[in-house]
Amino acid sequence: MADAGLSGRVALVTGAGRGIGRACALALAEAGARVAVNYRGSEGAARTLVEEIVALGGQAHAVQADVSQAHEVERLFAEVSAALGPVEILVNNAGITRDTLLLRMTEEDWDAVVTTNLKSAFLCTKAALRGMLRAKWGRVITVASVAGLNPNPGQANYAAAKAGLIAFTKSVAREIASRNITVNAVAPGFVATDMTADLPADLKQKADEMIPVGRFGQPAEVAAAVAFLASPAASYITGQVLVVDGGLA
Ligand code: NAP
Repeated sequence: MADAGLSGRVALVTGAGRGIGRACALALAEAGARVAVNYRGSEGAARTLVEEIVALGGQAHAVQADVSQAHEVERLFAEVSAALGPVEILVNNAGITRDTLLLRMTEEDWDAVVTTNLKSAFLCTKAALRGMLRAKWGRVITVASVAGLNPNPGQANYAAAKAGLIAFTKSVAREIASRNITVNAVAPGFVATDMTADLPADLKQKADEMIPVGRFGQPAEVAAAVAFLASPAASYITGQVLVVDGGLA
């Protein structure tokens, strides 16, 4: 595999079996990183991705864990450390939506979205920082959303979680900027994954018309931004939100 400056670095991508996470894992592997592929339920897809990375000459390891649960995150980091070494690049990607108007939103809808998108980043970043501080090098990249910047109706839980991730990113970046650890976020717009596959056709067409580039993004186009933020070229960038949305926001 080509070496784009991450040779031998250990990366962990949460929710990497499918969609944007999968593309991030591939991009980091292509840049030379050894990649831990976390999945919650998509075991087959995660194992296929590991095989794909190995076939390309890279190194990867799949680990099942629900990253919204503290004890599972603890096990995840222990397993990654044993298989590949301490995590040096963390991509907080795992996320879900439970879209509905606030008056219909249940406490369960709120908790599921906030714990999966926001609490998971707290748990994983905290777990990763210990090793990064010891290594005196680290990259934390969180997949937020333009919904955290310009929220849509029907997404109060998701928008609050994504805005929370942006504030979390900026706060932690300041805490550890002097330790050679950068903390950034990417904020995708509409990206063609399972998450957007069920949008009604008329809404997809309306979205295409609203996006200046005129189409949904591809997972690889978000992954390219993540790989850049992980690269040595981004060493002086921290606390930033890189919007990857075809001009939408
Ligand atoms: P996706 O195709 O639905 O994939 C979601 C991923 O998250 C899956 O790999 C899933 O793993 C994982 N996941 C969910 N809950 C998890 C948990 N508790 N523990 C571990 N993994 C978990 O969605 P996507 O579009 O790729 O979304 C990836 C990220 O991008 C999310 O944070 C999302 O909010 C963000 N985003 C997406 C868009 C978009 O338009 N698609 C736009 C902006 C931001 P399993 O399959 O193994 O359960």
